[in-house]
Amino acid sequence: LGRATPSVITQSVTTRDGVQVHVLANASSVSDVERAVAEGADGIGLYRTEFLFMRSDGLPDEATQAEHYAAVAEAAGGRPVTFRTLDVGGDKPVPGLKMDPEENPFLGVRGIRLTLANRPVFDAQLRALARTSDAFPGVSVMVPMVSGLEELDDVRRVLQDVAPRVAFRLGAMVEVPSAALLVDALAREVDFLSVGTNDLTAYLLAADRGNRHLHGLYSEFHPAVLRALHLIRDGAKETPVSVCGELAGDPRATGLLIGLGYRQLSVSGPLVPAVKERIRTIDTAAAERAAEELLRARRHRDVDAILESRPFEA
Ligand code: PEP
Ligand code: MG
Repeated sequence: LGRATPSVITQSVTTRDGVQVHVLANASSVSDVERAVAEGADGIGLYRTEFLFMRSDGLPDEATQAEHYAAVAEAAGGRPVTFRTLDVGGDKPVPGLKMDPEENPFLGVRGIRLTLANRPVFDAQLRALARTSDAFPGVSVMVPMVSGLEELDDVRRVLQDVAPRVAFRLGAMVEVPSAALLVDALAREVDFLSVGTNDLTAYLLAADRGNRHLHGLYSEFHPAVLRALHLIRDGAKETPVSVCGELAGDPRATGLLIGLGYRQLSVSGPLVPAVKERIRTIDTAAAERAAEELLRARRHRDVDAILESRPFEA
């Protein structure tokens, strides 16, 4: 793709030494978007469209979706909005969508796998998003749970089929370890990438965040997660990469992410002011040195010790 004019990000905050960082918000409803804008978000970095599907009685048709997406874009007031295509799986039922029971839904037909296997659903959503992007130039679309280039090839074929003159920027989430390892190849195929640290952490550590017996294992500050974040930012080269998992909204991680080279964070709306405040205290050179030290950490407790020494502001 890459034919569309890149969306203009209107506001942003700078680090103490003047480096621009964009803080966007994650949202699932029009009221989330309104709240995020009121909190000073520079745009919507992740719009989770699945809530529209889960709130509906049956599957929302193209017209219903187009109306909803236009209301989202309208509420964003000209700021960029990244819509994520339907991201559900066997664990989250959607009214009107038949899903076979699976023994292991988190390793099953989720995200892009599910929409590619349900073409009428995917086609209607892409058509609705294409209509939205015709009216709102700041609209981007990203696909969840990408594991390799084949899925992007399939998405491109579907787009060619249903919306050949599509004007939106196309991106992929990096939240499956295989996508992280293939990031250089993925980056060449898309307009942008976004790291979903929630799923990436779970899949890297093979640990479910909600499992109380694994308390302490699931951590977005695990040394392996930090190394993956470095690998992704480094491997993506010139392709823009944001972080949209929970880690992006944790002020303890702001300096680390800036030190690793991330310049766009998408966080839950109410966290926007705190993350912006944190960015203003950070010195990029100090953050880069701290990130290098953190990448050498071998145990989780080493990461904690480095973070406690507040290394990003010196
Ligand atoms: C993630 O996995 O980090 C992410 C942002 O997606 P979700 O939390 O919606 O799965
Ligand atoms: Mg995810």
